[in-house]
Amino acid sequence: MLLPDNSEYKPVEHPNMAPTRTVNGHLSVKERLGSYDEIDQTYTEEEALEEASRCLYCPTHWCQKACPAGVPVADFIAKIREKDYEGAYGLIHTASSLPEMCSRLCPQEKQCQSNCTRSICSESVAIGKLERFVADWHQAHAAVEKMEKNGKKIAVIGAGPGGLAAAQRLNEKGYAVTVYERESQAGGLLCYGIPNMKLKKSVLNQKIETMKEQGILFENNIEVDAVLAKQLKATADAVVIAVGASETRKPVIEGADDAKGIYYAVDYLASNTWSLIHSGMKDQANISAKGKNVIIIGGGDTGNDCVGMALRNGCKSVVQIEMMPERVGKDHIWYPYPVHLPETKFDCSQEEYMTVFCKDPHRYASTVTAVKTNADSEITAVTVMKMEPKMSESGRVMMQIIPGTEEELPCEMLIIAAGFTGPEKQIKEAFEAEFSKDSYQTTVENVFACGDCRTGQSLVVKAMVDGQKCAEAVAEYLDK
Ligand SMILES: Cc1cc2nc3c(=O)[nH]c(=O)nc-3n(C[C@H](O)[C@H](O)[C@H](O)COP(=O)(O)OP(=O)(O)OC[C@H]3O[C@@H](n4cnc5c(N)ncnc54)[C@H](O)[C@@H]3O)c2cc1C
Ligand code: SF4
Repeated sequence: MLLPDNSEYKPVEHPNMAPTRTVNGHLSVKERLGSYDEIDQTYTEEEALEEASRCLYCPTHWCQKACPAGVPVADFIAKIREKDYEGAYGLIHTASSLPEMCSRLCPQEKQCQSNCTRSICSESVAIGKLERFVADWHQAHAAVEKMEKNGKKIAVIGAGPGGLAAAQRLNEKGYAVTVYERESQAGGLLCYGIPNMKLKKSVLNQKIETMKEQGILFENNIEVDAVLAKQLKATADAVVIAVGASETRKPVIEGADDAKGIYYAVDYLASNTWSLIHSGMKDQANISAKGKNVIIIGGGDTGNDCVGMALRNGCKSVVQIEMMPERVGKDHIWYPYPVHLPETKFDCSQEEYMTVFCKDPHRYASTVTAVKTNADSEITAVTVMKMEPKMSESGRVMMQIIPGTEEELPCEMLIIAAGFTGPEKQIKEAFEAEFSKDSYQTTVENVFACGDCRTGQSLVVKAMVDGQKCAEAVAEYLDK
């Protein structure tokens, strides 16, 4: 293995060898369930300094290599130790334009933290929490810089992480950027999809305000259709499409077509978040799980968010149906360093459910095959069947239903969190453009695409990196 030149390497003197991370305010389950407030808290300066001193400043920086954005982790943590928080922010910003969001939302236990040397025989450095401390410090203290303009105009369609990252990088390069967003507020899934418990909306709003002060224009409540698309192609020097992958995957369920009480996860979560944003839940305009037996199809992060939301609504029970079998013992086998060292993550929503109901909401290796309704077409029960892995004729291992394993579960609310298939087809038709996995440029010369609409459903950090790289591609095209 090729190792770096370590001649300049200066190890940290007297690192803090505490085996566990610095603990800070984390609301108890009882406190959490009484509100929709953000669960995790930002480190105080003292806590951040204590945790930063756990980093060994390893010469290989495996943590940085495991970050999809390549954030210079060890270097920004070194700046924290020097109490140069703006310097730390500057280093993070070279790789990440949305550290306020990524530090809260990234699955760090599978990324940077999984590669931290300290995690070999103790807890990894709390990299996410240190990044969050720096990002929040910057939001609270830093002055806003307005960028000089170069006379060229860019239209960005969609204000999710992909569009925001592209807009920010293009604005920094001097382009006049206008972001068109069909919702009433910018942020995409950061605003209405991801619950306030994981990302408090004041952090997002402040980020958008800063971007406005930096010179970016936001046009909300504008859905870009074929008419506007034609106009933008003609008037802007370049267009960036960042509309996300909102086309939902629809599982085949007998009797579901006309049944009342079935919702897609994003519709359920968005109705609750909008109600929280507009009225602190007072308008009761949300889809509520209050008093209901809730079945959630999907054991991923979106399904987990629905568990947390249903608990706060005051549901009667939740069963979360996951097609894949439970991962048993995988986290305890030996991994040769620096192979991914998975940390077992116990999602906050599961912790909450187990505290209240004393059991795991998951049903692994299962699926919903049918729904039952009453005379008013309201859902009353679902049929759940067990699944097992089987080799298909093409040689792929697929989960297949085991005949004769039908079980009926009471259900007054069914939430489908089975993922997304891609962007809505109208946007490609409106621009008469096809997207490519190999290029940011679409089949229309001055039209580019980035984020989940180009790559498929991903993560905030991946959509952000895609937006940043797309900005580079746009600048290269315009500078030709
Ligand atoms: C419930 C949920 C929870 C998640 N939790 C996490 C998490 O904890 N961590 C994580 O890393 N990732 C998470 N994700 C994934 C993450 O949110 C997405 O990968 C990311 O937001 C994709 O960014 P994007 O900019 O490509 O698209 P989006 O965030 O979907 O933004 C696209 C924007 O385009 C707008 N738009 C669409 N069409 C038009 C049009 N014609 N005109 C104008 N505007 C338009 C939309 O209104 C939207 O605002 C979660 C996703 C969901 C659904
Ligand atoms: S691997 Fe861990 S200890 Fe080493 S530099 Fe990265 S964060 Fe610090």
